[in-house]
Amino acid sequence: MSTFRYRCTDCRKEYGRDDVRYLCPACGAAWRPGMPLLGVLEAVFDTASLQGRIDKTRPDWSLLSAVEPRHFPPLTVGNTPLLAAPRLAASLKLGQLFLKNDGQNPSGSLKDRASFLVVAEALRLGESRVVAASTGNAASALAAVCASAGLEALIFVPEKAPRAKLVQMVMHGARLVPVKGTYDDAFALSLAFTQKRGGLNRNTAYHPLTIEGKKTVSLEVAQQLGFEPPDAVFVSVGDGVILAGVHKGFADLVAVGLLPRLPRLIAVQAEKSDAVHRFIRTGAYQNALAPTTVADSISVSCPSNAYWARRAVQETKGLSLTVTDEELLSAQRALAASSGVFAEPAAAAAYAGLQKLQAGPDALPATAKVVVLVTGHGLKDVDAALQSVTIPPAIEPTLDAVPV
Ligand SMILES: *Cc1c(COP(=O)(O)O)cnc(C)c1O
Ligand SMILES: [Zn+2]
Repeated sequence: MSTFRYRCTDCRKEYGRDDVRYLCPACGAAWRPGMPLLGVLEAVFDTASLQGRIDKTRPDWSLLSAVEPRHFPPLTVGNTPLLAAPRLAASLKLGQLFLKNDGQNPSGSLKDRASFLVVAEALRLGESRVVAASTGNAASALAAVCASAGLEALIFVPEKAPRAKLVQMVMHGARLVPVKGTYDDAFALSLAFTQKRGGLNRNTAYHPLTIEGKKTVSLEVAQQLGFEPPDAVFVSVGDGVILAGVHKGFADLVAVGLLPRLPRLIAVQAEKSDAVHRFIRTGAYQNALAPTTVADSISVSCPSNAYWARRAVQETKGLSLTVTDEELLSAQRALAASSGVFAEPAAAAAYAGLQKLQAGPDALPATAKVVVLVTGHGLKDVDAALQSVTIPPAIEPTLDAVPV
């Protein structure tokens, strides 16, 4: 474990680890519901002292972990496979395409990484209740990790979250509070709850260790590629916390001397839930007015981490794009049928973005080494998948009835 401090991503003021919990007190005070978070904190490690100290063959990632392993909950997360996808690569005229399959996490999404680290922090602090608002996956993840640690998970979700995700939460023993309203409404309510009634709040970006938890995906990708960085990493974006975590992970690796440079980060949003995309393109922030998309996990009017998300794309000379529901559902099918990886719609958005880029004038060259993050498992939302596939009707059990 290396020591770290929190630094405000807005005013750059630094704080000791136990002097703050959520946002920078100076900048966060100006935050109101309906705007991206202000004063999001970044965990800053003493990377200079770690230069050359992390062994490439057996990296000790606890040196870059904000919580000591002795506080880790029993349920292990991460260490998901990075799969070569040669059939998809050929169809996209790419030499090397890899899928980081985070659908293989215990609760089926990359959110397990963030929930794991925040629950570890709750254990360190002696908090017995962890509270979150979620579009679904963050809460399923929190419920699962809390179950393993014996903590209470209190969860605010929009009542329309996919059923499989709601079932996961209840099955893992969480206290579930469906909210009549949107994810943004649930987010505001959960903040009010922890401010007045206590518990550790796990809301994305609001708790800085959500970003640190998500960064572990980059540490793994770098290691799985033998510390030869990819040229581009495609990330589905809702609140922009996975994107920030991916950015932070690669930046830490560059800072400790394990990577020579940052890969380009490509942010992909749903066409109608595009606040981060428009912010990147225009430099002017505006909420997405009607963020309706079949990709529920990236449906958000006001992305919590819009500022960092924009910076992640800018600092890596990446880009952002949007995809329609049709495009992402068709990408979901292509991915499943040609790689064996079944992604939920929000996760398939990243691949849809790659397909779209390759079909246009800014296509990546055939020499590019590309990673697509698959952030969640397709079985989490079977109803969405059924919009693009049909199950054949049953036949009589006779050989004659089998279609040729
Ligand atoms: C949460 C989530 C995203 C988006 O992550 P943000 O941090 O909100 O940008 C993408 N895909 C899946 C499956 C998710 O659960
Ligand atoms: Zn600040």
